[in-house]
Amino acid sequence: MSDKNVTENFITQIIDADIANGKHSNIVTRFPPEPNGYLHVGHAKSICLNFGLAQDYQAICHLRFDDTNPEKESNEYAESIKADIQWLGFDWGENNFHASDYFEQLYGYAEQLIEKGLAYVDDQTPEQIRENRGDFTTPGINSPYRDRSVDENLTEFRAMRSGEYADGSKVLRAKIDMQSGNINMRDPVIYRIKRMHHINTGDAWCIYPMYDFTHCISDAIEGITHSLCTLEFEDHRPLYDWVLDNIDIDCHPQQIEFSRLNVSYTITSKRKLNQLVENQLVDGWDDPRMSTISGMRRRGYPPEAIRNFVKEVGISKKESVISMTVLEDAVRNVLNKTAPRVMGVLKPLKVVIENYPEDKVEMLTGSNHPQDESFGLREIPFSREIYVEQDDYKENANRKFFRLTEGREVRLRHAYYITCREAIKDAEGNVVELRCTYDPESRGGTADGRKVKGTIHWISAAHAEPVEVRLYDRLFNHPKPAAVENFLDSINPDSLEILPNAMLEPGIVDQDKDVAYQFERNAYFKRDKTHETDRPVFNQVVTMRDSWAKLEQEG
Ligand code: ATP
Ligand code: MG
Repeated sequence: MSDKNVTENFITQIIDADIANGKHSNIVTRFPPEPNGYLHVGHAKSICLNFGLAQDYQAICHLRFDDTNPEKESNEYAESIKADIQWLGFDWGENNFHASDYFEQLYGYAEQLIEKGLAYVDDQTPEQIRENRGDFTTPGINSPYRDRSVDENLTEFRAMRSGEYADGSKVLRAKIDMQSGNINMRDPVIYRIKRMHHINTGDAWCIYPMYDFTHCISDAIEGITHSLCTLEFEDHRPLYDWVLDNIDIDCHPQQIEFSRLNVSYTITSKRKLNQLVENQLVDGWDDPRMSTISGMRRRGYPPEAIRNFVKEVGISKKESVISMTVLEDAVRNVLNKTAPRVMGVLKPLKVVIENYPEDKVEMLTGSNHPQDESFGLREIPFSREIYVEQDDYKENANRKFFRLTEGREVRLRHAYYITCREAIKDAEGNVVELRCTYDPESRGGTADGRKVKGTIHWISAAHAEPVEVRLYDRLFNHPKPAAVENFLDSINPDSLEILPNAMLEPGIVDQDKDVAYQFERNAYFKRDKTHETDRPVFNQVVTMRDSWAKLEQEG
């Protein structure tokens, strides 16, 4: 892959042509979130595109909050959006703006449209407006208020602003064409009356501009060159252009649409994600199962993996659903290189090594990354009592089971060969302890050349650090949860498994480092410092190999 953030695509071709032919000397892009929820993996695509292009072209990308809907917006959301963008590795520098910064200018442009006979105050009820707009097969019907004089419209619009009318009783509409084949052009509403406290402008306004009017003008005020948005705005482009063509403003950014990112087994809609939070079906917006950027961060996904994923998916106009496996592979690829290897036993079974001295503790040496010497070595304590994984013992094992069963010898990772002698059971017949012996000559795992096929991980019991481990599965068990009539019906009831008694080798828990580890033979894990119980909590970031790839192919 190229070392650019954004590999060549139809948008970079447009940009390159615009620079080559002198239309622009450089680009200015923007990422325009509405602060009405936390960002999700889909937004990561837009962030990596807009901020990524700015980096690639040594240009600027603005962060502009599209804050025209005060009833749904909050500062908490705005702050989370900033944190997410920074965590992904991008920076808006001085260029954090708000659509609300332009409310006064937007109002002025609305009066300009009125003065040109291109906007009117409509007293119809919202229902009448909807009804008279028509649909794909029926043309719209002109409002009886459409031919108000410029003076009357100005007076009415100013009265709307000064609070003389009730919420919803009047709107300002652009006067375009009620017969247009594009419903967006049938005299769209550009201002509404709504008494709502705004996170930036407080109670200064009781009328708020609509998105389609606001967005294009905000782009133009900021000198955006290429206004990149998702395909659902394609039908709004004529309106974007109409507004800019009909007000007195020098700049006319080019709106270009690309396809949304959809990932299988996930939801990419703030509204639906909010439902999961509100109904307490997850542990907040940053629940590690959520497809939010904050969820992926808490889960332990490296930002580099998300950037690589978005880059791999690429930019086009083709709608598609990307397999969750592609995202998880991107995470594995980064963690395989960056995660130190340690031993962690998720479901411990005690092993007593009968011929090992009672009070002896030996320090053994293990490599922190078998493929990368620069990770160095560490010392691992070994003693008579250790924990192994319950699954590494089987009572009636066949010859192909190369782990612990009575009479069979296995290699302990970085340590000795042990042979299982006896399994001790409790009253219910559960195996609660193994009695084993070790070969003192096999230290480091190289005895007299005899073949020991199985290698298992372990922790010295006296040195083990108890931790809680959380294993995650897909939050939804339908590949396209948004396509299910009620997406909440497709929630996977087994998406979280808590293992309260896992054991870690010493030195991992106390580390202050912000790292994910590979618990050898298990998966990648990262400590969850934000949500701890009485024990340190480790989240499973991703499994080593993908067990879903096959299922998705079949399904
Ligand atoms: P949602 O449907 O989740 O509420 P939105 O489009 O309403 O998303 P905005 O805050 O308006 O959310 O989005 C900010 C930017 O992110 C917009 O330019 C939008 O086009 C882009 N964006 C949103 N979802 C996706 C996605 N799934 N893939 C790519 N870009 C996206
Ligand atoms: Mg939106």
